[in-house]
Amino acid sequence: MIKQYYMPTQILMGDDCVKSSSPMFLKMGKKALIVTGKHSAKINGALDDVTEVLSSNGQEWALYDRVMSNPTIESIYEGAAFAKSENVDFVVAIGGGSPMDAAKAINLLTCQDIPMDKLYEGQYSDKILPMIMVPTTAGTGSEVTPYAILTNDRLQTKKSIGSPILFPQIAVLDAKYMDNLPKEITINTALDALSHSIEGMLSLRANPITDSIARESIRRISLCFNGLKSGQLTRMQRFELLYASTLGGMVIANTKTTAVHSLGYSLTYFHDIDHGRANGLLLGEFLRYIEKNWPERVNEILSVMGMSTVNEFIVLLDELLGEKERLTDEQIEKYVSIAAKSANVKNCPIVPDTDELIKIFKNSMNR
Ligand code: NAP
Ligand code: FE
Repeated sequence: MIKQYYMPTQILMGDDCVKSSSPMFLKMGKKALIVTGKHSAKINGALDDVTEVLSSNGQEWALYDRVMSNPTIESIYEGAAFAKSENVDFVVAIGGGSPMDAAKAINLLTCQDIPMDKLYEGQYSDKILPMIMVPTTAGTGSEVTPYAILTNDRLQTKKSIGSPILFPQIAVLDAKYMDNLPKEITINTALDALSHSIEGMLSLRANPITDSIARESIRRISLCFNGLKSGQLTRMQRFELLYASTLGGMVIANTKTTAVHSLGYSLTYFHDIDHGRANGLLLGEFLRYIEKNWPERVNEILSVMGMSTVNEFIVLLDELLGEKERLTDEQIEKYVSIAAKSANVKNCPIVPDTDELIKIFKNSMNR
């Protein structure tokens, strides 16, 4: 397999960088579709900052603020109908992974007529509107990835659409929007970012460039472990987490994710467990499984976190995650059979079979 690194997204970061990026917004077009979740963008100041910049540039906008967590395929078609009726010529997404992913998919369906049953076939043309992403959680890295992960009721799981045309043009990183991010969402999203970088190092597509970025992302997140435990994070630490999550996005944009993500999707789909928490619940036992066949790699990951054993990592995850949800054996078998069909499970030099996936799941949830 030829390994490659590709990252076309321009990244702007620093205090008040939405406002100082005003000339970049101006170049994007005449009328923006702003995509957000229901509440947070209006409360954390990000929506005000963006609309102030657009107003001062003389640009118009239409606000689509109906994105729910884990957006469904149906909701994307609804968003695209709105975007078409508003004649927008660029897209600004503000929020966590859900609004950012929704914005990418809405953009695709605004520019291209793709029936629902063909959405996953990936036969897209190049038509797409330019996008700016303003992340307000530090986890998914969606601001720098070519994926939109959608809830797929037919397959009873979450499944991503992916194409280089879905890379945003610009990502604007300002940690101030996360000042009041609740402790639980901060932990869950940080674990998503950590999972991206760790899974990236365990991916078949890992290469020296993604490894360097992943190690740096893991290192920065681990500097915040104590702050995550206490729930006391300075603005500087918030920025560390945001930067580390963007690095994690740069990793998975090239390596994709592995079994942790595909198993975790069932926890979200069937039990409404947050995406990052779902990954955090499974990550430790997945690492323990990989260690049996690839101990040098796991030691490398642990040492970046200042740890010497997988158990030490699991103790930390347990502390961050608190009481765990319990599952029946039947549920676990069903979720493993769904995950086993996904490409992510095979995206690792050590591919777990069904029995091993069941073991990872049981040890993770019902220990
Ligand atoms: P999210 O679903 O986007 O947001 C979770 C919650 O956090 C929402 O209630 C949201 O409120 C709130 N929130 C967001 N920013 C906030 C802030 N600054 N202050 C207070 N509350 C805030 O969660 P997420 O973990 O960021 O994203 C998860 C999604 O991303 C999943 O669908 C996952 O599959 C996907 N994902 C995508 C990629 C990719 O590469 N594209 C990678 C990993 C995960 P509002 O709804 O009011 O905004
Ligand atoms: Fe993720």
